[in-house]
Amino acid sequence: MTEAAAWALALFVLGAITGSFLANLAIRWPREQSVMRGRSACDACGKTLGAGELIPLVSAAIQRGKCRGCSAAIDPRHWQIELGCALIGAAAGFVVAGPVAVAGAIFGWLLLTLAAIDVAEFWLPDALTATLAVAGLVSGIAGIAPDLTDRVIGGAGGFAALWLVAFAYRRLREREGLGGGDPKLFGAIGLWLGWRMLPIVLLLASAVGLALVLAEMLSGRKMARDTRLPFGALLAVAAYPAWLVMIGSMP
Ligand SMILES: [Zn+2]
Repeated sequence: MTEAAAWALALFVLGAITGSFLANLAIRWPREQSVMRGRSACDACGKTLGAGELIPLVSAAIQRGKCRGCSAAIDPRHWQIELGCALIGAAAGFVVAGPVAVAGAIFGWLLLTLAAIDVAEFWLPDALTATLAVAGLVSGIAGIAPDLTDRVIGGAGGFAALWLVAFAYRRLREREGLGGGDPKLFGAIGLWLGWRMLPIVLLLASAVGLALVLAEMLSGRKMARDTRLPFGALLAVAAYPAWLVMIGSMP
């Protein structure tokens, strides 16, 4: 096995396990249920789950997404986030090896969790955005590229840029255009990617958002002028491929 394949496989497995925890977080946090209890019981009937029912991805596939006790459907976001985190880990391992791959996977895992919560709730929990920001700073201090100066400028610049956009929008339209969490998330992304990548992330997020709006319009559904897009989720979805490209193109 090549080194890249070994790292990809290791981070795929680690991603599935981490995703199992993060899926709990994303689904239960908005409902204010205990996250630490884990998925130890069925949400519908309260049946305690055995070890065989808690294997990431595998259990969902074997049980066809249903509880063995009451056959209530298990929220599909469990396996979706597990699979997403596994693929994020594998992609990081393919692009780069060692601690940089692990750091990148952590970046992607946190982004996916934020995106999942934002899509469902239009909410980017500050504690999770702060975790992303601190992890970005720590990996810069540990010497992982981009260098710390680029990251700090990216953090401050990313936050300031979107904060100004939100401020201007409020003044002009007299309503909220961006969620309050979006500038903070963009700042945290800047702490990971450095300032140079931020215009690309913004462009990519806007392009994906525009494509979604066009798809909506083409499907014949009426878009209200105040239809909201989870912009934080779009930023998160754009930021991870940007990291892969950035790291992959480094000598
Ligand atoms: Zn059940």
